[in-house]
Amino acid sequence: MNDKKVRVRFAPSPTGPLHMGGVRTALFNYLFARRHNGEFLLRIEDTDQTRYVPGAEDYIAEALKWCGIQIDEGATVGGEFGPYRQSERKPMYRKYADQLIASGNAYYAFDTPEELDAIRSQYEEEKKTFTYNYASRENLNNSLALAADVVKAKIEAGDHYVVRFKMPVGEELHLEDEIRGHVVFNTSALDDKVLFKSDGMPTYHLANVVDDYLMKISHVIRGEEWLPSMPLHVLLYRSFGWEADMPKFAHLPLILKPVGKGKLSKRDGDKLGFPVFPLEWTDPKSKEIASGYREGGYFPEAFVNMLAFLGWNPGTEQEIFSMEELSQSFSLERVGKSGSKFDPEKTKWFNHQYLIKKSDEEIGALFAEQVLKSKGIQADSTIVNRVCGMVKDRVRFVSELWDQLNFFFESPKEFDAKAAKKGWKEDTPVLMLELIDILKGIEDFTSANSEEIVKEWITAKEIGFGKVMNPFRLAIVGAGKGPHMFDIIEILGKEETLARLNYAMENIKK
Ligand code: GLU
Repeated sequence: MNDKKVRVRFAPSPTGPLHMGGVRTALFNYLFARRHNGEFLLRIEDTDQTRYVPGAEDYIAEALKWCGIQIDEGATVGGEFGPYRQSERKPMYRKYADQLIASGNAYYAFDTPEELDAIRSQYEEEKKTFTYNYASRENLNNSLALAADVVKAKIEAGDHYVVRFKMPVGEELHLEDEIRGHVVFNTSALDDKVLFKSDGMPTYHLANVVDDYLMKISHVIRGEEWLPSMPLHVLLYRSFGWEADMPKFAHLPLILKPVGKGKLSKRDGDKLGFPVFPLEWTDPKSKEIASGYREGGYFPEAFVNMLAFLGWNPGTEQEIFSMEELSQSFSLERVGKSGSKFDPEKTKWFNHQYLIKKSDEEIGALFAEQVLKSKGIQADSTIVNRVCGMVKDRVRFVSELWDQLNFFFESPKEFDAKAAKKGWKEDTPVLMLELIDILKGIEDFTSANSEEIVKEWITAKEIGFGKVMNPFRLAIVGAGKGPHMFDIIEILGKEETLARLNYAMENIKK
Protein backbone atom coordinates (compact mmCIF):
# COMPACT_ATOMS: atom_id res chain seq x y z
CA MET A 1 0.00 0.00 0.00
CA ASN A 2 1.25 3.46 -0.80
CA ASP A 3 1.40 5.88 2.10
CA LYS A 4 -1.28 8.11 0.61
CA LYS A 5 -4.34 8.60 2.77
CA VAL A 6 -6.93 6.05 1.78
CA ARG A 7 -9.72 7.73 -0.13
CA VAL A 8 -12.08 5.56 -2.09
CA ARG A 9 -15.21 6.34 -3.99
CA PHE A 10 -18.38 4.70 -5.09
CA ALA A 11 -19.23 6.26 -8.43
CA PRO A 12 -22.60 5.03 -9.68
CA SER A 13 -24.38 6.39 -12.70
CA PRO A 14 -27.99 7.24 -11.86
CA THR A 15 -29.42 5.20 -14.71
CA GLY A 16 -31.81 3.17 -12.57
CA PRO A 17 -31.94 1.43 -9.22
CA LEU A 18 -28.69 0.20 -7.80
CA HIS A 19 -28.53 -3.54 -8.08
CA MET A 20 -26.98 -5.81 -5.47
CA GLY A 21 -23.68 -5.93 -7.38
CA GLY A 22 -23.51 -2.16 -7.10
CA VAL A 23 -24.25 -2.31 -3.39
CA ARG A 24 -21.44 -4.84 -3.01
CA THR A 25 -19.03 -2.46 -4.77
CA ALA A 26 -20.10 0.32 -2.42
CA LEU A 27 -19.74 -2.01 0.56
CA PHE A 28 -16.23 -3.16 -0.33
CA ASN A 29 -15.13 0.43 -0.84
CA TYR A 30 -16.69 1.39 2.47
CA LEU A 31 -15.10 -1.51 4.35
CA PHE A 32 -11.74 -0.78 2.80
CA ALA A 33 -11.99 2.85 3.88
CA ARG A 34 -12.99 1.88 7.42
CA ARG A 35 -10.23 -0.68 7.73
CA HIS A 36 -7.61 1.89 6.75
CA ASN A 37 -9.11 4.87 8.57
CA GLY A 38 -9.78 6.42 5.23
CA GLU A 39 -12.64 8.21 3.58
CA PHE A 40 -15.51 6.87 1.55
CA LEU A 41 -16.92 9.15 -1.14
CA LEU A 42 -20.10 9.03 -3.15
CA ARG A 43 -19.72 10.55 -6.60
CA ILE A 44 -22.62 10.64 -8.98
CA GLU A 45 -21.50 10.01 -12.56
CA ASP A 46 -24.30 11.57 -14.52
CA THR A 47 -22.50 12.79 -17.64
CA ASP A 48 -24.71 10.75 -19.90
CA GLN A 49 -27.88 12.77 -19.64
CA THR A 50 -29.72 10.51 -22.08
CA ARG A 51 -29.56 7.69 -19.57
CA TYR A 52 -30.53 9.73 -16.54
CA VAL A 53 -33.43 8.23 -14.58
CA PRO A 54 -35.28 10.43 -12.12
CA GLY A 55 -35.30 9.04 -8.62
CA ALA A 56 -32.22 6.89 -9.15
CA GLU A 57 -29.92 9.12 -7.14
CA ASP A 58 -32.28 9.25 -4.17
CA TYR A 59 -32.63 5.51 -4.43
CA ILE A 60 -28.85 5.07 -4.26
CA ALA A 61 -28.59 7.26 -1.17
CA GLU A 62 -31.48 5.48 0.52
CA ALA A 63 -30.12 2.03 -0.31
CA LEU A 64 -26.69 2.85 1.14
CA LYS A 65 -28.33 4.26 4.23
CA TRP A 66 -30.47 1.17 4.70
CA CYS A 67 -27.34 -0.97 4.50
CA GLY A 68 -25.55 1.16 7.07
CA ILE A 69 -22.93 2.34 4.58
CA GLN A 70 -22.06 5.84 5.70
CA ILE A 71 -20.85 8.41 3.25
CA ASP A 72 -18.00 10.61 4.49
CA GLU A 73 -18.00 12.92 1.55
CA GLY A 74 -20.11 13.19 -1.54
CA ALA A 75 -23.19 14.16 -3.44
CA THR A 76 -25.57 13.87 -0.51
CA VAL A 77 -23.31 15.17 2.26
CA GLY A 78 -20.88 17.64 0.66
CA GLY A 79 -17.17 17.97 1.32
CA GLU A 80 -14.15 19.98 0.29
CA PHE A 81 -13.63 18.29 -3.06
CA GLY A 82 -17.11 18.98 -4.40
CA PRO A 83 -19.25 19.25 -6.27
CA TYR A 84 -19.67 15.49 -6.31
CA ARG A 85 -22.16 15.32 -9.16
CA GLN A 86 -20.38 15.31 -12.50
CA SER A 87 -23.12 17.33 -14.21
CA GLU A 88 -22.32 20.09 -11.73
CA ARG A 89 -18.61 19.81 -12.57
CA LYS A 90 -19.21 20.16 -16.29
CA PRO A 91 -17.28 23.44 -16.82
CA MET A 92 -14.05 22.02 -15.44
CA TYR A 93 -13.52 19.19 -17.91
CA ARG A 94 -12.87 21.06 -21.14
CA LYS A 95 -9.44 22.25 -20.13
CA TYR A 96 -8.34 18.66 -19.56
CA ALA A 97 -9.53 17.63 -23.00
CA ASP A 98 -7.66 20.64 -24.42
CA GLN A 99 -4.57 19.65 -22.49
CA LEU A 100 -4.58 16.20 -24.06
CA ILE A 101 -5.01 17.65 -27.54
CA ALA A 102 -2.14 20.07 -26.95
CA SER A 103 0.15 17.27 -25.81
CA GLY A 104 -0.77 15.12 -28.81
CA ASN A 105 -2.56 12.48 -26.76
CA ALA A 106 -5.99 13.27 -28.14
CA TYR A 107 -7.49 14.65 -31.31
CA TYR A 108 -10.66 16.18 -32.72
CA ALA A 109 -12.87 13.84 -34.69
CA PHE A 110 -15.57 15.32 -36.88
CA ASP A 111 -17.07 12.10 -38.22
CA THR A 112 -20.83 12.25 -37.99
CA PRO A 113 -22.79 9.26 -36.71
CA GLU A 114 -24.08 8.77 -40.30
CA GLU A 115 -20.55 8.68 -41.69
CA LEU A 116 -19.48 6.17 -39.09
CA ASP A 117 -22.53 4.02 -39.75
CA ALA A 118 -21.76 4.02 -43.47
CA ILE A 119 -18.18 2.94 -42.78
CA ARG A 120 -19.37 0.26 -40.42
CA SER A 121 -21.71 -1.21 -43.01
CA GLN A 122 -19.00 -1.10 -45.63
CA TYR A 123 -16.71 -3.06 -43.28
CA GLU A 124 -19.48 -5.53 -42.58
CA GLU A 125 -19.94 -6.15 -46.27
CA GLU A 126 -16.29 -7.08 -46.38
CA LYS A 127 -16.83 -9.30 -43.32
CA LYS A 128 -14.67 -7.06 -41.16
CA THR A 129 -15.49 -5.08 -38.05
CA PHE A 130 -14.79 -1.42 -37.92
CA THR A 131 -12.82 0.00 -35.01
CA TYR A 132 -11.83 3.60 -34.60
CA ASN A 133 -8.17 2.95 -33.87
CA TYR A 134 -4.58 3.39 -34.97
CA ALA A 135 -5.24 1.50 -38.20
CA SER A 136 -8.25 3.48 -39.33
CA ARG A 137 -7.81 6.91 -37.78
CA GLU A 138 -5.49 8.32 -40.43
CA ASN A 139 -8.21 7.87 -43.04
CA LEU A 140 -11.09 9.34 -41.11
CA ASN A 141 -12.52 12.78 -40.64
CA ASN A 142 -10.30 14.02 -37.82
CA SER A 143 -7.52 16.36 -36.91
CA LEU A 144 -4.89 13.67 -37.50
CA ALA A 145 -5.94 13.34 -41.13
CA LEU A 146 -7.02 16.88 -41.98
CA ALA A 147 -4.83 19.92 -42.48
CA ALA A 148 -4.46 22.21 -39.49
CA ASP A 149 -6.27 25.14 -41.10
CA VAL A 150 -9.21 22.93 -42.09
CA VAL A 151 -9.49 21.72 -38.50
CA LYS A 152 -9.36 25.27 -37.20
CA ALA A 153 -12.03 26.41 -39.66
CA LYS A 154 -14.34 23.53 -38.71
CA ILE A 155 -14.08 24.31 -35.04
CA GLU A 156 -14.61 28.00 -35.61
CA ALA A 157 -17.65 27.22 -37.77
CA GLY A 158 -19.10 25.31 -34.81
CA ASP A 159 -19.01 21.90 -36.49
CA HIS A 160 -19.83 19.05 -34.17
CA TYR A 161 -16.85 17.11 -32.96
CA VAL A 162 -15.72 14.72 -30.32
CA VAL A 163 -12.30 14.44 -28.75
CA ARG A 164 -10.80 10.98 -29.01
CA PHE A 165 -7.88 9.50 -27.17
CA LYS A 166 -4.96 8.70 -29.42
CA MET A 167 -4.20 5.18 -28.30
CA PRO A 168 -0.49 4.37 -28.70
CA VAL A 169 0.39 1.67 -31.20
CA GLY A 170 1.85 -1.69 -30.24
CA GLU A 171 2.70 -0.97 -26.67
CA GLU A 172 2.52 -3.68 -24.03
CA LEU A 173 1.16 -2.31 -20.81
CA HIS A 174 2.10 -4.25 -17.71
CA LEU A 175 -0.26 -3.25 -14.96
CA GLU A 176 -0.96 -4.30 -11.42
CA ASP A 177 -4.42 -4.97 -10.13
CA GLU A 178 -4.80 -5.43 -6.37
CA ILE A 179 -7.03 -8.45 -6.92
CA ARG A 180 -6.02 -9.88 -10.27
CA GLY A 181 -2.30 -9.31 -9.91
CA HIS A 182 -0.26 -8.69 -13.02
CA VAL A 183 -2.34 -7.89 -16.10
CA VAL A 184 -1.03 -7.22 -19.60
CA PHE A 185 -2.74 -5.26 -22.34
CA ASN A 186 -1.57 -4.55 -25.85
CA THR A 187 -2.58 -1.05 -26.82
CA SER A 188 -3.08 -2.03 -30.46
CA ALA A 189 -6.08 -4.07 -29.40
CA LEU A 190 -7.75 -0.98 -27.94
CA ASP A 191 -9.79 1.67 -29.71
CA ASP A 192 -9.62 5.44 -29.61
CA LYS A 193 -12.31 6.14 -27.04
CA VAL A 194 -14.32 9.34 -27.09
CA LEU A 195 -13.33 11.52 -24.14
CA PHE A 196 -15.25 14.70 -24.71
CA LYS A 197 -18.09 15.98 -26.85
CA SER A 198 -18.54 19.41 -28.39
CA ASP A 199 -21.59 20.02 -26.19
CA GLY A 200 -19.05 20.36 -23.39
CA MET A 201 -19.79 17.06 -21.72
CA PRO A 202 -16.99 14.69 -20.94
CA THR A 203 -17.58 10.96 -21.34
CA TYR A 204 -17.25 8.53 -18.47
CA HIS A 205 -13.54 7.87 -19.07
CA LEU A 206 -12.36 11.46 -18.96
CA ALA A 207 -14.62 12.58 -16.14
CA ASN A 208 -13.86 9.50 -14.08
CA VAL A 209 -10.08 9.86 -14.30
CA VAL A 210 -10.04 13.62 -13.85
CA ASP A 211 -12.29 13.38 -10.83
CA ASP A 212 -10.38 10.54 -9.23
CA TYR A 213 -7.28 12.66 -9.59
CA LEU A 214 -8.85 15.88 -8.31
CA MET A 215 -10.57 14.09 -5.45
CA LYS A 216 -7.29 12.44 -4.46
CA ILE A 217 -8.63 8.93 -4.76
CA SER A 218 -6.09 6.37 -3.56
CA HIS A 219 -7.79 3.15 -4.68
CA VAL A 220 -10.27 2.50 -7.42
CA ILE A 221 -12.33 -0.49 -6.33
CA ARG A 222 -14.99 -1.39 -8.88
CA GLY A 223 -16.62 -4.23 -10.79
CA GLU A 224 -14.75 -6.47 -13.18
CA GLU A 225 -16.69 -5.04 -16.12
CA TRP A 226 -14.41 -2.01 -15.85
CA LEU A 227 -11.18 -3.99 -16.18
CA PRO A 228 -11.03 -3.39 -19.95
CA SER A 229 -11.06 0.37 -19.22
CA MET A 230 -8.04 0.12 -16.95
CA PRO A 231 -5.37 0.51 -19.68
CA LEU A 232 -7.07 3.63 -21.03
CA HIS A 233 -7.35 5.08 -17.56
CA VAL A 234 -3.70 4.36 -16.80
CA LEU A 235 -2.71 5.95 -20.11
CA LEU A 236 -4.77 9.00 -19.26
CA TYR A 237 -2.86 9.39 -16.01
CA ARG A 238 0.34 9.07 -17.97
CA SER A 239 -0.76 11.59 -20.61
CA PHE A 240 -1.69 14.12 -17.95
CA GLY A 241 1.61 13.59 -16.17
CA TRP A 242 -0.24 12.38 -13.06
CA GLU A 243 1.36 8.96 -12.80
CA ALA A 244 2.79 9.64 -9.35
CA ASP A 245 -0.73 10.23 -8.07
CA MET A 246 -2.38 7.39 -9.88
CA PRO A 247 -4.68 5.34 -7.68
CA LYS A 248 -4.28 1.61 -7.31
CA PHE A 249 -6.87 -0.45 -9.10
CA ALA A 250 -8.88 -3.39 -7.80
CA HIS A 251 -11.46 -5.10 -9.98
CA LEU A 252 -14.01 -7.12 -8.06
CA PRO A 253 -15.10 -10.53 -9.35
CA LEU A 254 -18.47 -10.97 -10.97
CA ILE A 255 -21.56 -12.08 -9.11
CA LEU A 256 -22.95 -15.07 -10.98
CA LYS A 257 -26.47 -16.39 -11.32
CA PRO A 258 -27.38 -19.11 -8.80
CA VAL A 259 -27.87 -21.65 -11.57
CA GLY A 260 -26.45 -21.88 -15.02
CA LYS A 261 -23.86 -19.60 -16.41
CA GLY A 262 -23.33 -15.91 -16.58
CA LYS A 263 -23.44 -12.87 -14.43
CA LEU A 264 -26.41 -11.90 -12.34
CA SER A 265 -28.02 -9.02 -14.13
CA LYS A 266 -30.57 -6.39 -13.24
CA ARG A 267 -32.94 -8.07 -15.64
CA ASP A 268 -32.88 -11.25 -13.57
CA GLY A 269 -34.84 -9.42 -10.89
CA ASP A 270 -37.77 -11.50 -9.69
CA LYS A 271 -37.60 -13.82 -12.70
CA LEU A 272 -35.35 -16.15 -10.76
CA GLY A 273 -37.47 -15.86 -7.64
CA PHE A 274 -35.45 -13.44 -5.56
CA PRO A 275 -34.87 -9.69 -5.50
CA VAL A 276 -31.78 -8.25 -7.15
CA PHE A 277 -32.34 -4.81 -5.67
CA PRO A 278 -31.78 -3.70 -2.09
CA LEU A 279 -35.03 -1.72 -2.01
CA GLU A 280 -38.20 -2.01 -3.99
CA TRP A 281 -38.15 0.10 -7.14
CA THR A 282 -41.00 1.41 -9.21
CA ASP A 283 -39.95 2.22 -12.73
CA PRO A 284 -40.91 5.85 -13.33
CA LYS A 285 -42.04 5.12 -16.90
CA SER A 286 -43.57 1.68 -16.96
CA LYS A 287 -44.63 1.78 -13.29
CA GLU A 288 -43.41 -1.80 -13.07
CA ILE A 289 -42.32 -2.79 -9.59
CA ALA A 290 -39.10 -4.68 -8.92
CA SER A 291 -38.92 -6.28 -5.50
CA GLY A 292 -36.37 -5.33 -2.88
CA TYR A 293 -34.65 -7.09 0.00
CA ARG A 294 -35.92 -4.53 2.48
CA GLU A 295 -39.56 -5.05 1.52
CA GLY A 296 -38.96 -8.80 1.35
CA GLY A 297 -38.37 -8.79 5.09
CA TYR A 298 -34.60 -9.08 5.07
CA PHE A 299 -32.61 -7.41 7.78
CA PRO A 300 -30.01 -5.00 6.41
CA GLU A 301 -27.34 -6.71 8.53
CA ALA A 302 -28.15 -10.05 6.89
CA PHE A 303 -28.11 -8.55 3.41
CA VAL A 304 -24.77 -6.87 4.07
CA ASN A 305 -23.27 -10.01 5.62
CA MET A 306 -24.35 -12.03 2.58
CA LEU A 307 -22.94 -9.44 0.17
CA ALA A 308 -19.60 -9.38 1.97
CA PHE A 309 -19.21 -13.07 1.23
CA LEU A 310 -19.82 -12.57 -2.48
CA GLY A 311 -16.19 -12.41 -3.46
CA TRP A 312 -14.56 -12.00 -0.07
CA ASN A 313 -13.93 -14.53 2.67
CA PRO A 314 -12.27 -14.15 6.05
CA GLY A 315 -10.14 -17.29 5.71
CA THR A 316 -11.76 -18.74 8.83
CA GLU A 317 -14.96 -20.64 9.57
CA GLN A 318 -16.72 -17.56 10.88
CA GLU A 319 -19.71 -16.57 8.79
CA ILE A 320 -21.59 -14.05 10.87
CA PHE A 321 -19.99 -10.65 10.70
CA SER A 322 -21.42 -7.36 11.86
CA MET A 323 -20.52 -4.26 9.88
CA GLU A 324 -18.05 -3.44 12.62
CA GLU A 325 -16.38 -6.85 12.37
CA LEU A 326 -16.31 -6.62 8.59
CA SER A 327 -14.64 -3.23 8.85
CA GLN A 328 -11.91 -4.80 10.92
CA SER A 329 -11.43 -7.94 8.87
CA PHE A 330 -11.89 -6.83 5.29
CA SER A 331 -8.91 -6.85 2.97
CA LEU A 332 -8.50 -6.88 -0.79
CA GLU A 333 -6.03 -9.76 -0.47
CA ARG A 334 -8.95 -11.95 0.57
CA VAL A 335 -11.09 -11.03 -2.41
CA GLY A 336 -11.03 -13.79 -4.99
CA LYS A 337 -10.49 -13.51 -8.71
CA SER A 338 -13.21 -15.82 -9.87
CA GLY A 339 -16.89 -15.02 -9.95
CA SER A 340 -19.02 -16.04 -6.99
CA LYS A 341 -22.36 -17.67 -7.37
CA PHE A 342 -25.18 -15.91 -5.64
CA ASP A 343 -27.10 -18.26 -3.38
CA PRO A 344 -30.59 -17.02 -2.47
CA GLU A 345 -31.07 -19.81 0.09
CA LYS A 346 -27.92 -18.75 1.89
CA THR A 347 -29.30 -15.23 2.05
CA LYS A 348 -32.35 -16.60 3.85
CA TRP A 349 -30.04 -18.51 6.16
CA PHE A 350 -28.25 -15.28 7.01
CA ASN A 351 -31.59 -13.68 7.73
CA HIS A 352 -32.48 -16.51 10.08
CA GLN A 353 -29.18 -16.10 11.88
CA TYR A 354 -29.83 -12.42 12.49
CA LEU A 355 -33.43 -13.07 13.45
CA ILE A 356 -32.49 -15.51 16.20
CA LYS A 357 -29.82 -13.14 17.46
CA LYS A 358 -32.37 -10.42 18.06
CA SER A 359 -34.04 -10.15 21.45
CA ASP A 360 -37.61 -11.34 21.92
CA GLU A 361 -38.57 -7.72 22.49
CA GLU A 362 -37.15 -6.64 19.14
CA ILE A 363 -38.79 -9.48 17.24
CA GLY A 364 -42.04 -9.00 19.11
CA ALA A 365 -42.13 -5.33 18.21
CA LEU A 366 -41.47 -6.09 14.55
CA PHE A 367 -44.12 -8.80 14.52
CA ALA A 368 -46.68 -6.50 16.13
CA GLU A 369 -45.87 -3.70 13.71
CA GLN A 370 -45.51 -5.67 10.50
CA VAL A 371 -47.98 -8.51 10.96
CA LEU A 372 -50.45 -8.08 13.80
CA LYS A 373 -51.25 -4.46 13.02
CA SER A 374 -52.26 -5.21 9.45
CA LYS A 375 -54.59 -7.93 10.75
CA GLY A 376 -56.14 -5.51 13.20
CA ILE A 377 -54.87 -7.52 16.15
CA GLN A 378 -53.83 -5.71 19.28
CA ALA A 379 -52.16 -7.84 21.86
CA ASP A 380 -50.26 -7.43 25.07
CA SER A 381 -46.63 -6.85 24.18
CA THR A 382 -45.32 -9.11 26.96
CA ILE A 383 -47.25 -11.98 25.44
CA VAL A 384 -46.30 -11.09 21.89
CA ASN A 385 -42.63 -10.97 22.82
CA ARG A 386 -42.85 -14.23 24.70
CA VAL A 387 -44.56 -16.20 21.93
CA CYS A 388 -42.18 -14.78 19.32
CA GLY A 389 -39.30 -15.95 21.46
CA MET A 390 -40.82 -19.44 21.63
CA VAL A 391 -40.76 -19.98 17.87
CA LYS A 392 -38.19 -17.61 16.44
CA ASP A 393 -35.69 -20.36 15.80
CA ARG A 394 -38.18 -21.93 13.38
CA VAL A 395 -38.48 -19.01 10.97
CA ARG A 396 -36.32 -16.99 8.61
CA PHE A 397 -38.53 -13.93 8.36
CA VAL A 398 -40.73 -11.99 10.75
CA SER A 399 -43.63 -12.56 8.34
CA GLU A 400 -43.26 -16.33 8.78
CA LEU A 401 -44.03 -16.00 12.47
CA TRP A 402 -47.75 -15.74 11.78
CA ASP A 403 -47.97 -19.34 10.61
CA GLN A 404 -46.29 -20.44 13.79
CA LEU A 405 -48.27 -18.22 16.12
CA ASN A 406 -51.70 -17.55 14.62
CA PHE A 407 -53.50 -19.72 17.19
CA PHE A 408 -52.32 -17.48 20.00
CA PHE A 409 -54.32 -14.65 18.50
CA GLU A 410 -57.30 -16.43 16.92
CA SER A 411 -58.98 -19.51 18.28
CA PRO A 412 -59.12 -22.26 15.66
CA LYS A 413 -62.42 -22.55 13.85
CA GLU A 414 -61.29 -25.32 11.54
CA PHE A 415 -59.14 -28.29 12.27
CA ASP A 416 -56.43 -29.85 10.20
CA ALA A 417 -58.16 -32.84 8.56
CA LYS A 418 -55.11 -35.06 8.51
CA ALA A 419 -54.28 -34.43 12.14
CA ALA A 420 -57.93 -34.98 13.06
CA LYS A 421 -58.03 -38.29 11.24
CA LYS A 422 -54.90 -39.45 12.96
CA GLY A 423 -55.39 -38.06 16.41
CA TRP A 424 -59.13 -37.80 17.10
CA LYS A 425 -60.30 -41.37 17.76
CA GLU A 426 -63.51 -42.88 19.05
CA ASP A 427 -62.38 -42.76 22.65
CA THR A 428 -61.02 -39.22 22.37
CA PRO A 429 -64.18 -37.35 23.49
CA VAL A 430 -64.27 -39.30 26.74
CA LEU A 431 -60.60 -38.54 27.36
CA MET A 432 -61.07 -34.87 26.52
CA LEU A 433 -64.00 -34.62 28.95
CA GLU A 434 -61.80 -36.00 31.67
CA LEU A 435 -59.02 -33.63 30.66
CA ILE A 436 -61.40 -30.69 30.86
CA ASP A 437 -62.29 -31.71 34.39
CA ILE A 438 -58.68 -32.00 35.38
CA LEU A 439 -57.75 -28.64 33.88
CA LYS A 440 -60.73 -27.01 35.57
CA GLY A 441 -59.37 -28.11 38.90
CA ILE A 442 -55.89 -26.69 38.40
CA GLU A 443 -55.44 -23.56 40.46
CA ASP A 444 -51.96 -22.67 39.44
CA PHE A 445 -52.21 -22.74 35.65
CA THR A 446 -48.48 -22.31 34.98
CA SER A 447 -46.86 -24.52 32.40
CA ALA A 448 -44.83 -26.66 34.76
CA ASN A 449 -47.67 -27.21 37.17
CA SER A 450 -50.33 -28.19 34.64
CA GLU A 451 -47.82 -30.39 32.90
CA GLU A 452 -47.13 -32.28 36.09
CA ILE A 453 -50.81 -32.75 36.91
CA VAL A 454 -51.87 -33.77 33.42
CA LYS A 455 -48.95 -36.14 33.01
CA GLU A 456 -49.63 -37.78 36.36
CA TRP A 457 -53.19 -38.42 35.27
CA ILE A 458 -52.08 -39.89 31.91
CA THR A 459 -49.53 -42.10 33.64
CA ALA A 460 -52.13 -43.33 36.14
CA LYS A 461 -54.47 -44.22 33.28
CA GLU A 462 -51.69 -46.26 31.70
CA ILE A 463 -52.34 -44.91 28.25
CA GLY A 464 -49.85 -43.41 25.80
CA PHE A 465 -49.22 -39.66 26.07
CA GLY A 466 -50.07 -39.24 22.40
CA LYS A 467 -53.64 -40.40 22.99
CA VAL A 468 -54.24 -37.29 25.06
CA MET A 469 -51.64 -34.84 23.84
CA ASN A 470 -52.38 -35.15 20.10
CA PRO A 471 -56.11 -34.37 20.28
CA PHE A 472 -55.39 -31.80 23.01
CA ARG A 473 -53.02 -29.98 20.65
CA LEU A 474 -55.47 -30.28 17.77
CA ALA A 475 -58.20 -28.69 19.89
CA ILE A 476 -56.07 -25.82 21.09
CA VAL A 477 -53.95 -25.12 18.00
CA GLY A 478 -56.15 -26.43 15.20
CA ALA A 479 -53.27 -28.45 13.81
CA GLY A 480 -50.41 -30.67 14.83
CA LYS A 481 -47.92 -27.83 15.18
CA GLY A 482 -46.70 -25.34 17.72
CA PRO A 483 -44.41 -25.12 20.71
CA HIS A 484 -44.73 -26.96 24.03
CA MET A 485 -48.43 -27.55 24.80
CA PHE A 486 -48.30 -26.50 28.44
CA ASP A 487 -46.54 -23.27 27.56
CA ILE A 488 -49.30 -22.60 25.07
CA ILE A 489 -52.09 -23.13 27.54
CA GLU A 490 -50.36 -21.08 30.20
CA ILE A 491 -50.33 -18.17 27.77
CA LEU A 492 -53.91 -18.70 26.63
CA GLY A 493 -55.13 -19.07 30.18
CA LYS A 494 -57.55 -21.52 31.69
CA GLU A 495 -60.76 -20.01 30.40
CA GLU A 496 -59.66 -19.89 26.79
CA THR A 497 -58.15 -23.36 26.99
CA LEU A 498 -61.40 -24.83 28.24
CA ALA A 499 -63.43 -22.91 25.68
CA ARG A 500 -61.28 -24.31 22.88
CA LEU A 501 -61.58 -27.83 24.17
CA ASN A 502 -65.36 -27.52 24.31
CA TYR A 503 -65.51 -26.05 20.82
CA ALA A 504 -63.34 -28.86 19.50
CA MET A 505 -65.55 -31.49 21.14
CA GLU A 506 -68.51 -30.15 19.22
CA ASN A 507 -66.79 -29.52 15.94
CA ILE A 508 -64.22 -32.16 15.27
CA LYS A 509 -65.97 -34.98 13.47
CA LYS A 510 -64.25 -38.27 13.23
N1 GLU B 1 -19.95 5.28 -13.30
C1 GLU B 1 -19.37 3.98 -13.35
C2 GLU B 1 -20.45 2.98 -13.00
O1 GLU B 1 -21.57 3.29 -13.17
C3 GLU B 1 -18.21 3.93 -12.39
C4 GLU B 1 -17.17 2.91 -12.69
C5 GLU B 1 -15.95 3.18 -11.84
O2 GLU B 1 -16.05 2.96 -10.63
O3 GLU B 1 -14.95 3.63 -12.39
O4 GLU B 1 -20.26 1.90 -12.55
